[in-house]
Amino acid sequence: MKDIATIGRTKQILETHGFSFKKSLGQNFLVDLNVIREVLDKADIDEKTGVIEVGPGIGSLTEQLAKRAGKVVAFEIDQRLVPVLADTLSPYGNVAVINEDILKADIRAEIAAHFSECDEVVVVANLPYYITTPILMNFLEQNLPIERFYVMMQKEVGERISARPNSKSYGSLTIAIDYYTEARVVQQVPKTVFMPPPNVDSIIVEMVRRKTKKVDIDDEASFFKLTRGAFGQRRKTILNNYMTVFEDGKNHKDDIRQLLQAADVDPRRRGESMSIEEYAAIYQELKNFPELKIISQ
Ligand code: SAM
Repeated sequence: MKDIATIGRTKQILETHGFSFKKSLGQNFLVDLNVIREVLDKADIDEKTGVIEVGPGIGSLTEQLAKRAGKVVAFEIDQRLVPVLADTLSPYGNVAVINEDILKADIRAEIAAHFSECDEVVVVANLPYYITTPILMNFLEQNLPIERFYVMMQKEVGERISARPNSKSYGSLTIAIDYYTEARVVQQVPKTVFMPPPNVDSIIVEMVRRKTKKVDIDDEASFFKLTRGAFGQRRKTILNNYMTVFEDGKNHKDDIRQLLQAADVDPRRRGESMSIEEYAAIYQELKNFPELKIISQ
């Protein structure tokens, strides 16, 4: 039988099961084996690898993962796809499909239940683009035992993730991902490899979890409020943006200026020019300014 990730087989599966795409769930299925093989080569997957997939769809990527990996656990929110996947993935005994929203699933428990025989766990996915950032942050903030990520996403989000300071794409998402991982763009993906083709361009990003964090932070939630706050209005200086980050900020302008200066940051700079190390310096100095309290959202 032909592979699932081909136009002919995909059309046949959709017809057999009377399946219609739901745009609201970001359903754009891969119909190109070359792209999938390139991802799997880069991800270096073998029989000792446990793979988590988000959104298997009709199983295009899942099938290729199942052929190489020790075990694949695929989370799919759309109940209509459960019988489709039971059919298309029936030749593969090493796949578990979990009919759950990835943002609500107990991923840690599933890792413990399925991957005890594996040397490492990696995430490989053609993500539903409408929730790329929440999915990635949910994986990372939980500190799950996942070593690497190979994920397809909207080009603009991929560029934000792998951006450098002083660029248009650099922002609080860049810093959050940089805190947990080393990220890089692996390759661009044309719209033609999907059915139906999405409206946006796509990109594959590799993220390797850092064994030691780049900066030493004891309260990540507060740190991320400081980094997000610096980009509140991109054109404003960090001093002006921070007046809305701290309680009664307008009346604490001098304290905020002193905080920034103590961290060796010129208050006239903009958030997009600052490295993660400079944000960490502000965070550490904040302990010496008890009058400055971050607004709780
Ligand atoms: N992996 C398949 C492929 O490459 O052909 C499908 C990828 S498609 C871009 C995204 C998939 O994610 C869809 O199957 C969609 O139903 C599923 N999905 C959307 N939101 C989800 C969520 N919150 N949790 C789990 N799966 C989700």
